[in-house]
Amino acid sequence: MKCSFTYDHYREILQLFRNEGYKTVSFSSFKPKEPYQLILRHDIDFLGINLSILTDLEMKIGFQSINHFLMTSEVYNINSLAVKSLINRLRKNGHHLGLHIDPTLFSLYSSKQELQNEFKNLINIANIYLGPLDSYSFHRPAIIGTNKDLFPENFPFQVPKCAYSDEFTKSMIYRSDSRREWQNGCICQEIKDLDGRSLQLLIHANWWDLEEINREQNLKNYVNTHLRLIKGYLANNLSFLLESKISLKDFFIG
Ligand SMILES: [Zn+2]
Ligand SMILES: [Zn+2]
Repeated sequence: MKCSFTYDHYREILQLFRNEGYKTVSFSSFKPKEPYQLILRHDIDFLGINLSILTDLEMKIGFQSINHFLMTSEVYNINSLAVKSLINRLRKNGHHLGLHIDPTLFSLYSSKQELQNEFKNLINIANIYLGPLDSYSFHRPAIIGTNKDLFPENFPFQVPKCAYSDEFTKSMIYRSDSRREWQNGCICQEIKDLDGRSLQLLIHANWWDLEEINREQNLKNYVNTHLRLIKGYLANNLSFLLESKISLKDFFIG
């Protein structure tokens, strides 16, 4: 088995977990102290075809993941037809939905009251678009540091489970492919040695590809795909564009 960020290797990783006897659970159905629970979380920073490919692989193996979407993304629109269709498909296939939160959003607010109101609004809006939320996570959590304002125990109202609460991080094994790097080596190498201990595994679907390519090429493909989408959007909406001498290259590259 060769380690890579490919769909094939992702399938192998899932199979290893299944062969060891793991089952996937959501944050809200996780039972403390029970072994063989895998919390399989996806933070959706960038959105491409990769997410539906990985989640389909999970479904085929009998696994469900928890998919945390940003409500405030600059690069995908939670209310667009394409993203709505994806969310419906995830839900139909038994996957869970949650909220990915960029903590820098809250830097605008000066008082704790304002911050809590804004957080409540965000959860309410997410409930409309995503349905009942299993949990939430932070984008680039290092930004939060020791600031505990955004953790569930500090709200005077009920909020979903937080992926960064101690029970899901300090009290259990936590592994992540953040930055497309495994801090402890590829997770496949560790599965046998876990001896059934429960864990949280964070996978960013955007890092995984059909072929083995490097991180820079992965990002280049992402940018090129979006460029094609924007060009398609402009061509569909501006009838003069095809006949005109306007070069799209001038729009984007100068
Ligand atoms: Zn591996
Ligand atoms: Zn993120």
